[in-house]
Amino acid sequence: MKLTLVQGDITEQRVDAIVNAANSSLLGGGGVDGAIHRKGGPEILEECRALRASRYGGGLPVGQAVSTTAGRLPARWVIHTVGPVYSRNEDRSHLLASCYRESLKVADALGAATIAFPAVSTGVYRWPMDDAARISVTTVLRSGSNLDEARFVLFDLAAYEVFDRVLREFG
Ligand code: ADP
Repeated sequence: MKLTLVQGDITEQRVDAIVNAANSSLLGGGGVDGAIHRKGGPEILEECRALRASRYGGGLPVGQAVSTTAGRLPARWVIHTVGPVYSRNEDRSHLLASCYRESLKVADALGAATIAFPAVSTGVYRWPMDDAARISVTTVLRSGSNLDEARFVLFDLAAYEVFDRVLREFG
C-alpha cells in the first residue's frame, strides 16, 4: 500500500472512501465532521440516524469505524470513526491507532482501493500533532492492508509538515 500526503480539504478528495473524525453520536459536529455533512448533503445523516436506531443505539464507541454513503461528495463512502479525546494523564494511543486500523478494515470489506484520512483527534479533541502523526503513520504502515493508497489529508501547512517529517522518519 502506498502512503501519500496532501495539504487540503478531505471533502474534495477523489478516493473511494474518506474517513470522518466523527463523534460517538454520529449526528454531526464541527471540524471535518461538519464539512462532510455540509458538502455531502442529508443522505449521510440519514444513514447515521439509521445506524443509531439499529447497531449503534448507544453511539459508535471510541476507536471503532462504520461506513455510510458519501452522498454528494466525490468519494463513494464515508467511514466514520471516533477518535479519543487527548489526555495528559492517561495513554489513549491504542484507541487512536484503532481508529486507523478499524477504518482500513471497513474499507477493505467495502472493496475500496483508495482511502483518505484526516488527522483524527487533532482538532477539538486536542491531540498534539506530532504525536498523532507518529501514531497514525506507523499504524497505517503496519496495518498489512491490501488497499492501493492511503492518503493523509492535512488541512494546514503546519500539519502537513509534521506528517511529512514523520513519514520520512518511519516510511
Ligand atoms: P477531532 O474532534 O477528532 O479532533 P476535528 O474535525 O476537530 O476532529 O479535527 C481533526 C483535524 O482535521 C484537525 O487537524 C483539523 O484541522 C482538520 N480539519 C478540519 N477540517 C478539515 C477538512 N475539511 N479537511 C481535512 N482536515 C480538516
